[in-house]
Formats: sequence, C-alpha cells, structure tokens
Amino acid sequence: MIMRHKIIDGKAISKQIRTELKQQTETFHSETGVLPGLAFILVGENPASQVYVKMKGKACAEVGFHSVTKVLPADISQQELVKLIDAFNNDPKIHGILTQLPLPDHIDEAAVIESIDPNKDVDGFHPINVGKLLIGLKTFRPCTPAGIQELLIRSNIDPAGKHVVVVGRSNIVGKPIANILVQKQKWANAVVTICHTGARDLLYYTKQADIVIAAVGRAEVITGDMLKEGAVVIDVGVNRIDDPGSEKGYKLVGDVHFASAVNVASAITPVPGGVGPMTIAMLLANTLQAAREQIVG
Ligand code: NAP
Repeated sequence: MIMRHKIIDGKAISKQIRTELKQQTETFHSETGVLPGLAFILVGENPASQVYVKMKGKACAEVGFHSVTKVLPADISQQELVKLIDAFNNDPKIHGILTQLPLPDHIDEAAVIESIDPNKDVDGFHPINVGKLLIGLKTFRPCTPAGIQELLIRSNIDPAGKHVVVVGRSNIVGKPIANILVQKQKWANAVVTICHTGARDLLYYTKQADIVIAAVGRAEVITGDMLKEGAVVIDVGVNRIDDPGSEKGYKLVGDVHFASAVNVASAITPVPGGVGPMTIAMLLANTLQAAREQIVG
C-alpha cells in the first residue's frame, strides 16, 4: 500500500507559492505603484513551446503581473532577435525576460542568453548569474532547480549533511541543482555527486544516496532496486510513452520507475504533479525578485 504522505505534492505546493506571490505582488504594487513585468519571446511554432508560453502567461495573469508575449517567425535573424531583447532590456515596465528555448538552429543560443540584461535574466541562464550561483552569491536560481530546493524546504527535508546524487549534468537542471545544494547555506550544505553517461556503474552511486535527483531524460531508468531504503526521490523527468489504452495514446512518466521506487523511498515526487508545477511558480518568484531589486534596490 502507498502511504499518501510519502508523495510530495508539487501541484499543491506550487499553488500555495502562487497564492503567496499574489499577496506579495499586491503589497509590492501598493507600496511602489509598479506591477512586476515579464516578457516572453517565442521564436517559431514549436507546439510544446507554445503551450509552455501560454501556461506561463496565464500564471502571470493569476498573480497580477504585467506580461507581454512576442511571437517571432522561425526564420528571424539573430540580430533582429537581439534587437528585441535589447528593447525589453531598456523597457522600465519589464523586469524579467524569458526567451523560450530551444531556438532554431541558425540562432546561437548562448549569444542570445548573453544579450539579456543579467538583472532581468529570470531564467538564471546568463553566465554572470551562473557564476554568481557557483560562488554562492545572491542571484536568480534557474527555475526548475529552484523548484526542487523549494519542494525539499516545504516538505521539511533538509539536505544538509546528506548525500545527494544528481543523475544528469545539463546546464538547466543537473549542474545548477548540484551547485545550489552544495553551497554552505541553509537548506543546502549537502555532499553532492553528479552522475552522467560517463558513470561506469550508476547503481554504485544511487545506492549510496540519501536523496536522488533524477534529471536523465530517459523514461523510468531509475528503479526501486537502485535505491537505498528510505531514500528521498526527486524525479525531474518528463517522458512520453505509448499508452494505447488511454484516450491520447500516450502517458507521461518520469525518469524514475515510480511503482518500484515508491516502496523503497521515504518520500517521492510523482510525474506529473511533482517538480513540473514548481518551475512556473519559481519563474514568478524570480520575476517578483527582479522587480523588487530594480525598483527598490
Ligand atoms: P538533458 O539535457 O538531456 O540531460 C540529461 C542528462 O542525463 C545528461 O547529462 C546525460 O549525460 C545524463 N544521462 C542520460 N542517460 C543517462 C544514463 N543512462 N545514465 C546516467 N546519466 C545519463 O536533460 P535535461 O534538460 O536536464 O532534462 C532532464 C529531464 O527533465 C527531461 O526528462 C526533461 O524533460 C525534464 N525536465 C523537466 C522540467 C520540469 O519539469 N519543469 C524542466 C526541465 C527538464 P551526458 O551529459 O553524459 O549526456
């Protein structure tokens, strides 16, 4: 039998954060007369990106933010895109800028990220902010890793002194969550191991983990027999697998094989409804932080 309290409910935690942010936004607005403003830039017609941007715009409206979405043709030049970003960099109503990734192949993603004012880089991807995160300075934590830390905090799971094994070393999840949790700071101070495809024996590492963070991008590769009894399992993965029995013909699963892991874990995030809903909540939190820093200092 699955004990319900084992399941970390990201949907409920995200809702709670968005309720708090709505109140904080009202207070900020009454004190400064300013609404936090977020600009979304979408290049091309990637259906997943369109859905994400729509969801993020809706979330902005719900907490009372000002938001603007610019949809650009897939063949736009890098120069034109950077020109638009620069206009937002100089727009006092905009405190955060998000360029939805991935960008078309002819555009240099790194150059585009670097063209965003680091003070408005609410995704936390600008090299200046990545550097600040690494050396433990205050900055924008990238949204998905920030969401993971927030899930731990609000579930009262303190990573301090624990062995955290992160599976995956991407710049948007694996590396930043490792950087966050290794800091000598509150709700961090963990011993962190990062695994990737170069790990000869993944099981050797995951078996030692007090907390496993799976950001692998492969369906259900972390199974219950790879975990230590009582481990905390944070599943970042979102994978579509065939499900002929369902209406859509597919279902979403994580990088963790939930059915076997739930029997071994002391706490686990489900997919969907775990890490996923936290990303947008943290984007909103970063945008309010950006507005505060730009207006109040
Ligand atoms: P990614 O860029 O594809 O990186 C995957 C990482 O996993 C790589 O570092 C890769 O190693 C490693 N890896 C792959 N197979 C492995 C294996 N068999 N053993 C050990 N390591 C392995 O993925 P990502 O962008 O970090 O995303 C990871 C997952 O999280 C995806 O399912 C994605 O959809 C999901 N995601 C969810 C959210 C959200 O919920 N809000 C946000 C972002 C991502 P190498 O470096 O050696 O290739």
